[in-house]
Amino acid sequence: MQIVIVGAGTFGASLAWTLARAGEDVTLVDQFEPGDRRATSGGESRLIRCAHGGDADYTASARRARALWRELEAETGEALMVEIGTAWFARREDGWEAASERALTEQGIPCERLDPAEGAKLFPSLGTDDLEFVLYEPEAGVLRAQRAVQALARQAVAHGACLVRGHATPDGDAAVICGSAAAAASCGAMGADEERLEGDAVVWACGPWLGGLFGDLVPLRVTCQELLFFDGGPAWRSPGVPAWVDFDHAIYGTGDLDGLGVKCALDLEGPPLEPDADLPEASRTEATVREYLARRFPALAGATLNEGRCCRYELSEDSNFIAARHPELERTWIVGGGSGHGFKHGPALAERVADALRGGAPLPERFGFGAREAGRSFRTAGSSPA
Ligand SMILES: Cc1cc2nc3c(=O)[nH]c(=O)nc-3n(C[C@H](O)[C@H](O)[C@H](O)COP(=O)(O)OP(=O)(O)OC[C@H]3O[C@@H](n4cnc5c(N)ncnc54)[C@H](O)[C@@H]3O)c2cc1C
Repeated sequence: MQIVIVGAGTFGASLAWTLARAGEDVTLVDQFEPGDRRATSGGESRLIRCAHGGDADYTASARRARALWRELEAETGEALMVEIGTAWFARREDGWEAASERALTEQGIPCERLDPAEGAKLFPSLGTDDLEFVLYEPEAGVLRAQRAVQALARQAVAHGACLVRGHATPDGDAAVICGSAAAAASCGAMGADEERLEGDAVVWACGPWLGGLFGDLVPLRVTCQELLFFDGGPAWRSPGVPAWVDFDHAIYGTGDLDGLGVKCALDLEGPPLEPDADLPEASRTEATVREYLARRFPALAGATLNEGRCCRYELSEDSNFIAARHPELERTWIVGGGSGHGFKHGPALAERVADALRGGAPLPERFGFGAREAGRSFRTAGSSPA
């Protein structure tokens, strides 16, 4: 099969890697270099966890993705996934964490229910007054996101894919690529100012830009989300300190991985941000995050802020992904709607999309187009405001 993929974020680059190593003829197009910070996949780190409340399908997808990320590591010799573990702070017995525990246990995925005092041993300091228990996922952790996306694209090329730098617009079932110095990054095949790429399938995996390309068909909200990195000193280095999520307070973080500092981010929806707008300075969330840190991790009260950064979310209405054939175009497919939790699933979703492209198993109905009910539960943002 000949497949054109526009977008080399986790979704597009994973699909390119999956299809190219299965022997398909793949062209991967991106307006930027893979791993560019302007893309949603461009950050240094993203959590990988199997806990998804009671949702068996996302749970299994994350577990499958973990195996595939390990395969990518084996191909490249790079350490892309760091199993620092993830601690889920449960404030009630009947919440997301208890549902996750049941789903993980049913699928044989390691997890431990710790009483708050045991949970406190995972961190240099932990405030536990409001906790019922801690759900610990020892095999969860962090993906080195930017490096992982670059590795996916590089390995796709190693398996024969052609990587093209250029801006694409849809024209019927084709992708028209502009800017042709745009052209050949890895295949030397292109050279004109404008190229029309067609194939058995053209897959648009364009992250926050999908709404602009396909209008009402892909109603995404694009928002500005802040990541803050604090100086915790040597005690807070990861591995050693796990990632953590306070789902009901919509806040998460990690220990200090790769010397970036202790990461902490509010997972409430930020203000709208156009896909092509410059990323603003991080200026909104520091006070709220500091207040939380002082309560939850008293040793971090007053920690110096190393850096604050903004990134984009592309949110579907219900936080489910989008992966479906265009309703009117036979060979056009759309994949996206990562909704703040898509990174880890990249290679697993790619397997499913690859099967669908080749006429195999149908994609989940909830990934299709049409009306969706509001919801944000699949990212690390539960119902209460922080
Ligand atoms: C702050 C933050 C924290 C997150 N935390 C996590 C987490 O902990 N765990 C997790 O699993 N997920 C997390 N996510 C979500 C995850 O990062 C995204 O869901 C995922 O990266 C989306 O990938 P994508 O491939 O759909 O989009 P992108 O990475 O944005 O890739 C789309 C690509 O398409 C290209 N493109 C767009 N339009 C065109 C065009 N017309 N022509 C050519 N190229 C084009 C872009 O240049 C871009 O490279 C987080 C996201 C953010 C912002």
